[in-house]
Amino acid sequence: MNKVKLFLNYAGYCFANEKHAIQGGENKPVKFNALYGLILHPEKGWILFDTGYAERFYDVTKNFPNKIYAKITKVFVKTEDEIQWQLNSFGIKVSDIKHVIISHFHADHIGGLKDFNNAQFYCSRPAYKQMKNMPSFLGVTKGILKDLIPADFDSRLSFIEDIAVPTHDEIFGVKYDLWGDTSMFIYDLPGHAAGQIGMQVQTTKNNYFLVSDACWYKKSFEKMCPAHPIASIIFDSWKAYMSSLEKLHLLHIQSPQIIIVPTHCNETTSKLVSAKFDIDAL
Ligand SMILES: [Zn+2]
Repeated sequence: MNKVKLFLNYAGYCFANEKHAIQGGENKPVKFNALYGLILHPEKGWILFDTGYAERFYDVTKNFPNKIYAKITKVFVKTEDEIQWQLNSFGIKVSDIKHVIISHFHADHIGGLKDFNNAQFYCSRPAYKQMKNMPSFLGVTKGILKDLIPADFDSRLSFIEDIAVPTHDEIFGVKYDLWGDTSMFIYDLPGHAAGQIGMQVQTTKNNYFLVSDACWYKKSFEKMCPAHPIASIIFDSWKAYMSSLEKLHLLHIQSPQIIIVPTHCNETTSKLVSAKFDIDAL
C-alpha cells in the first residue's frame, strides 16, 4: 500500500441537539465541528477531503428560503477558521490544492469549494444527481445550498465510479481505489445523504477511515446506536443509513485497529486535530 500523509482540522462549527444526534442523548446543544482532511500524496500532491464552512455561508443564507437554514442551524465561522486562511498560514497556496473529494453536498462539508479554482472535484454520481436535480428553493430541506457550488463545477467534476478502480470488499461489497495505487480508498456510505462517500487512507502510523456523517458518534458504530429517527427528516434514506452503519459496526469489530473518524464526533476528532500544522503527526 502506498502511504500518504494526513492532517485534520476544523473549519467552523454549528450546534446540534444531542438527543437528535444519538439515541439516548441528552436534551442539550452539542458542538458539531466541521472537520476537513488535508492529504499529501507522493504523486498527486495536496488533496482535500471536504472543506468545512466558510464565511460565504452567511451571504448565501441572507435571503429566503436559504435563510431558514441559518435560522435552524446556527453556524459559527470566522475568516481565520476558513480552510483557505488556514492553508495560507501553513504555507500552502490554495492554487496548490489540485483535488477536492466531496463526501456529500451539505453546507458544512462544501462551504469552501469556491476557494479552489485550480482543483478537480470528486464525488459519487448519486450525490451529484441529488444536488443537481434539487430545485434551489427545496435544497434547504435537505441541507443543500447550491449557491456554495462554483459556477464551473460541472466542468471540473469527476465521478468516483468512473475514474477509480473498483475492488471487491468483504463488508462493503465494493471499494474504489481512487488513484489505482492503493493509497486512498473510497467507500459508499449512503443514507445520511444520497451517495455519501467515505475515504480510507494509510499513513506511516495508522489507518484512518473518514466516514463523514455516516454516523455522528463513535458510540454509534461501536454499539449500533444510531441517530434519533427525527434526524431522518434531513436524511436521504433511513434504511440506507442503517445499512451503512451496520457495515461500519462490522468493520470496527473485524478491524478495530482502523481509526474510524465521523466528521462531527468530538471524542474522536479532538485527539486528531491540531491548529498547529504538522503533516507527519498522524
Ligand atoms: Zn456534516
